[in-house]
Amino acid sequence: MKAAFYAGDSRIELRDVPTPTAGPGDVLVRIRASVICGSELHDYHAAHGGKGPAGHEGVGQVVSAPATAGLAQGQLVAVQVLSGCGNCEHCLSGDPEHCAAMRFHGGTHAEYMAVPAMCCRPVPADIPADLAVLLGGDAIGTPYHALSRLGISAADTAAVFGCGPIGLGCIAVLRFYAARILAVEPVAYRRELARQLGAEIALDPAAEDVVPRIRELTGGRGASVTLDCSPEAETVTMALESAAIHGRVALIGEKPAAGIRPSPQFIRKELTVYGSWYFTGPDYFQILDLYRRGLDLTGLITHRFPLEEADRAFAIFASRRSGKVLLVQ
Ligand SMILES: [Zn+2]
Ligand SMILES: [Zn+2]
Repeated sequence: MKAAFYAGDSRIELRDVPTPTAGPGDVLVRIRASVICGSELHDYHAAHGGKGPAGHEGVGQVVSAPATAGLAQGQLVAVQVLSGCGNCEHCLSGDPEHCAAMRFHGGTHAEYMAVPAMCCRPVPADIPADLAVLLGGDAIGTPYHALSRLGISAADTAAVFGCGPIGLGCIAVLRFYAARILAVEPVAYRRELARQLGAEIALDPAAEDVVPRIRELTGGRGASVTLDCSPEAETVTMALESAAIHGRVALIGEKPAAGIRPSPQFIRKELTVYGSWYFTGPDYFQILDLYRRGLDLTGLITHRFPLEEADRAFAIFASRRSGKVLLVQ
């Protein structure tokens, strides 16, 4: 089969490799659609590449499945790339990322993938693969999980820091909740995308001091909700400082370290700060409900390529002049 590999120094190589064999309990999936994730860029840019095949957000058809999995041949499934033991408190609440036996199964940018049955979430027949890959993956799953924990309502003003795919996904879900959305993003292309997806305004942090601007836009109070969706350390400061008294803050953008000043940024404002990572099985079914009730993802995917052009697709994604970039097969 053909599969995309991180070949080192910002190159993707399509290689012919043996089709994986499904072990006992595994499902063999013929991938139909996958999307590039921001977290892949580390392996993409690394001098020696990364473990392959690449990709961890994908949707495909069941080729073979264990009889106990309840999956028919040809059934479309959204592949979750984290599995767990299946029996602990985290696995049983649909949250295997916290399982002590958590395993990662990458390789959605390939023709076939073998994954444990617990990684396959059935896609209803009315949802096409190129939408299911957003609804059933990080693109909407991660934003939805964070926004559920924050408890968003139409009374909220939400400031979103970083309008890469996760920030844009947050904007799409915030629009569904009818919240007021203020976006912050240094790349002009993504500011425009943020406005198209529902942000009232998209501020450029290189051109203005965004914290006082957000205060000004909120009558001096600050945003009731702030979401840090950026990999940069300084956006943690911005998210804390632009939050209103009693505000809620979600830290979603992965980063190893960031400085905080607890008293002025946190304690005196009585903030509630959530760390939010990935999403759960129950989230997936709630997201399908949101979609049926009008969650609009138009514009989130900006580029489509066949798997054969994965190298070009990654180059565009890495330039940050894109939303989600789709690989179809
Ligand atoms: Zn991802
Ligand atoms: Zn477990």
